[in-house]
Parts: sequence; structure tokens; C-alpha cells
Amino acid sequence: MSTDVVVGAGVIGASIALELARAGRRVIVVDRAGGVGLGSTSASSAVVRFTFSTLAGVATAWESRFCWQDWGDHLGCDVGELTRFERTGLAMLDVDLAPRARYVSLFREVGVPHEEWDSEMLRARIPGIDTGRYWPPKRLGNERFWADADGELGALYTPDAGYVSDPQRAAQNLAAAAVRHGAELRLRSTVVGVDSAGGRVVGVRLGDGTTLACDTLVNAAGPWSGRLNALAGVGGDFTIGVRPMRQEVAHVAAPPGFGDPGMSIADMDLGTYLRGERGGGLLVGGTEPECDPLQWLDDPDEANPSPTAAVFEAQVTRAARRLTDLTVPSRARGVVGVYDVADDWTPIYDRTELDGYYVAIGTSGNQFKNAPVVGQFMAAIIEQVEGGLDHDAQPVRFLAKHTGLTIDLGAFSRRRGVNTGSSGTVLG
Ligand SMILES: Cc1cc2nc3c(=O)[nH]c(=O)nc-3n(C[C@H](O)[C@H](O)[C@H](O)COP(=O)(O)OP(=O)(O)OC[C@H]3O[C@@H](n4cnc5c(N)ncnc54)[C@H](O)[C@@H]3O)c2cc1C
Repeated sequence: MSTDVVVGAGVIGASIALELARAGRRVIVVDRAGGVGLGSTSASSAVVRFTFSTLAGVATAWESRFCWQDWGDHLGCDVGELTRFERTGLAMLDVDLAPRARYVSLFREVGVPHEEWDSEMLRARIPGIDTGRYWPPKRLGNERFWADADGELGALYTPDAGYVSDPQRAAQNLAAAAVRHGAELRLRSTVVGVDSAGGRVVGVRLGDGTTLACDTLVNAAGPWSGRLNALAGVGGDFTIGVRPMRQEVAHVAAPPGFGDPGMSIADMDLGTYLRGERGGGLLVGGTEPECDPLQWLDDPDEANPSPTAAVFEAQVTRAARRLTDLTVPSRARGVVGVYDVADDWTPIYDRTELDGYYVAIGTSGNQFKNAPVVGQFMAAIIEQVEGGLDHDAQPVRFLAKHTGLTIDLGAFSRRRGVNTGSSGTVLG
């Protein structure tokens, strides 16, 4: 039997391992960390939303949502304590950069339930919200930061959005299910070399000097994915690049009356996203507003792991501008993670120019939610390409089990045209 090696036991690699194992293939997952889900996955805000700029993006997120909702069924076996999906609804505040009309037309095509709200409805549904339009986002030191609003915002509301309670546990659940389906998990195993012969991958070399022979390899190395591609000499025909970026997410107490957990809010007008946490917490992340310097990294391992006072204060003050009862604590608390950012903030799920070498990379801070379906995408691509399909010329068409949608996987090609409809931010 042929062997698939999956590099990376984050939520994406664990999901791919599960689907390959479920398809009856021999799978070995290797991860350099001492546990499952300790990379980007552990820092994830795990928001599940459907506001993507492409049809394939919306359809994938909508299909995945059904997997999270029936998580035990998705896993297909008993793996102990499960992560939970919390349905909170999400209000995406209006912003010209990501026009509401575009999402509405995609939602209609895919069948995502939604409501269009004016500012009055927004105030009625989110206690204490300031519906002012403050665009563009500004730095705290900018004298115009506190300028009056120049208009009022409405929102696009999706009642079925929410978040996954414990992203690391989600990866652990997937990995445990993969093992139950026959996959082998090797932790503390760093891939330091990729061997090929005759234009085909044949094995990986590990840091301890051992070699694993393989017939296919999947790069699911998250922010380290570019490094693995370089080791394999892969990437020459990619039109889309990937690059690691450091990110902070502030953790604060939700304002009184916000709800437990309150509704999630995407607020590009002020440059933040907010999501409640059961127990009275609120997570505040950034949406890469132009005024903030982006923290690109050459090496993900060099990311400063501590939240900084400057980013914390900026993010939480912006959030407090929107949720007027929110207080800004004096001490920075939160998590730091690294995104694996693709040029157009849209992931790459594809084969490569090296036969047998596949990539599930460039997840751009927005693919946790899609992980259950990404495993199925990769299993379908691998099975069909290994069976002789020219996926570059005739991309796999994926039939989604829950929604009945057909998703053209060419949308995630390494050789696609840059997605010009992208918001150019984590929203995809
Ligand atoms: C702060 C933050 C907030 C986010 N919020 C959201 C959100 O709200 N919603 C959403 O959908 N997405 C969100 N994301 C994105 C989401 O979390 C990621 O897209 C997803 O977790 C990526 O998973 P992964 O398995 O590809 O990568 P990772 O979890 O990073 O896993 C990669 C694994 O590969 C291993 N590895 C790397 N190189 C090697 C090697 N050479 N040998 C062996 N092992 C190796 C690493 O140890 C790691 O465990 C967020 C991400 C961050 C950082």
C-alpha cells in the first residue's frame, strides 16, 4: 500500500490525515511540536463566518459549518471530549472595501441565510453599539481618531455564524479520529529534507536522521509552509506567494449586557473584529487596517510571543469606540499567533510541479473554519491526481455532502489569477 506523509498536525493537517485514513490510505502525520494543534491553530479566534469574496470561499465555509455543528458525526468515532460550536450570529458592518452587495449575491447563490440591517436595527440588536461611520481606521495618536462620525452604518447579519470553543481541541479531535481510522502520528519529528527522484517525491528526512519513504506528501506546515516548499524545491510555477505574519488578539471582559456569548462583529470600518466568549469574555482581533504596520516575519519562530501594550491598546480602544460600554484595561492580555498569508488572502489547496507533493497552505488567518472540508478537498485532489487527472487543466469538482453544492477547486489553485475581489485583509 502507498504511504501519504502529512507534514503538520495543526487543524488542517489533522483534517487531511483523517480524510486520507478514512479513504483507506496509509497515513503518517509528522509534527515537530510535542502535541497536536500547537501552531497557528492554538492561537485561532476560531470564528466561523461566511463572508468570503469568492463563490468557492462562501460555499466552503457554509459546508464546513454543518461539520462543526454535528462534530461527533463528522469525526465518525468516539474520541473523548469534543470541542463545541457556539452559534452567536455575526454582524458584518458596512464598509466600501468589502461591499455588502457582493456578499448578498454570493449568499443567495449558495443559500446562506442572512438579514440586511440598517443602523436602527443594528442598535436594537447589539446593546451599546455606536453605529457611526469612522472610516478610514486611524492610529490612536492621530488627532482625527476621536473625530465625529460622518455617517451611519448598517450591517449584513448571518444568524448561523459563531465560533468553535477550543481550536486546539478541534485539531486534537481530528487527529484522534485519524488515528482511530488507522493513521500514525509522529510528534517531535521535524522534517529537515524532502527527497525526490525522477520528478516525484519519494521521502522525507527527519531531524533525528531517520528517513520516511512516501508516495505522496502534503505540506500542511502552516506558517512554516514556505520553508518546507523551499526544502523540496517547490514553488517555481506558483502565481501566488505565501508569507508569515505576526498577529495579536486581545482578550478582555465583554461590556455589561453584551450577551454570553454575545454576537460576533466584523468591523473593518474601525479595523477590528470582535467575538464573545462564553463566560463573559471578548476577543478583539485586527483586520489589517492600512494605518497599522504589518508585522511580516522571515522566520515564524522569531515572532515575539507576548502581546504588546501598543497593539492591545489600539485594538481595544477601537473596539470601545464601537461598543461604548467596553472598558480598556491597562494591562495587555491576549494571544499572539502567526498567519500564513497568501498574496490575495485566499488559501492554496493544490498539487505542485513535483509529482506527489501537495500543498494546503496560505490559510491567511481565515481557514480554521474550513478545516473539516479542506481535509475532504485534499483527499479528493490526491485521489484524482494520483489516478491520472490533470487537475491544472481540469480542476477537481467537489460535491459537498451537507449542502449539495459543487465547489470548483480550481479556485484554490497555486496558479490561479490573483483574487482581485479580495478585501486584502484577513476577511479573505
Ligand atoms: C491569531 C489568529 C487568529 C485566527 N482566527 C481565525 C478565525 O477566527 N477563524 C478562522 O477561520 N481562522 C482563524 N485563524 C486562522 C487559522 O487558525 C489557521 O488558518 C489554521 O489554524 C491553520 O492551521 P494549519 O494546520 O495550517 O497550521 P498550524 O496550526 O500552524 O499547523 C502547522 C503545523 O506544522 C508543524 N510543522 C511546521 N513545519 C514543520 C516541519 N518542518 N516538520 C514537522 N512539522 C512541522 C508545526 O509544528 C505546526 O503544528 C487565525 C489564526 C491566528 C494566528
